[in-house]
Amino acid sequence: MSIKLRQKRKHVLHRLLKPTTAALIITGLLLLAIPSAAQAKTTETATVKVYLERGGITRFEEYIPLSTELGLPPGFFYKANVYAVNFREGIVLIDCGVEELYSDLIEAIGQRFPNRPILAVLLTHGHADHAGAGHYFIEAGIPVYASIIDSYLIQMGMNFPGVPGDFTYTGYTPTALLSGGETLFGLKVIPTPGHTYGSLSFLEMKTRSLFSGDTTISYSSDDVAPEDMTFELEYQTLLATDKVSLGMQLDSLNSLLDLVNGGQVKSIHPGHNRSYHGKDVPVYLQKSIDVVTAALANN
Ligand SMILES: [Zn+2]
Ligand SMILES: [Zn+2]
Repeated sequence: MSIKLRQKRKHVLHRLLKPTTAALIITGLLLLAIPSAAQAKTTETATVKVYLERGGITRFEEYIPLSTELGLPPGFFYKANVYAVNFREGIVLIDCGVEELYSDLIEAIGQRFPNRPILAVLLTHGHADHAGAGHYFIEAGIPVYASIIDSYLIQMGMNFPGVPGDFTYTGYTPTALLSGGETLFGLKVIPTPGHTYGSLSFLEMKTRSLFSGDTTISYSSDDVAPEDMTFELEYQTLLATDKVSLGMQLDSLNSLLDLVNGGQVKSIHPGHNRSYHGKDVPVYLQKSIDVVTAALANN
């Protein structure tokens, strides 16, 4: 697809979808240069993989097969993270994944932490891949905390016209709303607007672990399968984001970099892809800053 066509498409789609940042993720799907079907392997089944990260953090990575409704051949998938912080009293989850994988996630959490209660779910933002399963947790008596600004997205459940089923979910009312500055279960709530207006990051102060949601950007690398659409969707969402939001995201990233430079962050755990530790943290943040700066320049 030529750059000119790409920009024209972006412009038209952007205008159509502008009312909802949530819906912008779909824009990316329509802009993708899709690899040929021959490259696709057998269809990935939805599953949850478990990774033990530094600082006692567990990363549950959800593999979400993308439907042919999106125009992708079978076998393409998307990945999103749910993190568990293990406290004396029980587990606190950062994000809760997609609606469809709730049972798989609960099973994976139960195997990793037998007989340990889930104390709460803290949401980084209101998109389907992070907040989608929230209503199941509330029904199970587990409180779900969310940004007061993103609560409208969660109540709508991203059920906007034109959004493919892969990115919709059952709307619900979060148990409690956060505006930033609070400390919950030893996690400091940091407003990091941009990706959504209400995006939050959480800093676990004891281990200096930062959960950044989609404020930071994951990177494709040589070891990523061609069927993995995670980076492409994130990046195309970024390209379709308005200038004001990109500026906010840049400010948020710089404030996170200040925390890193001030020695308050040792690990960073993004909403997608792997975690970063030690000297990789500022490098990763700087890459995110560079990508958002470039998107802003092209916007
Ligand atoms: Zn998002
Ligand atoms: Zn996401």
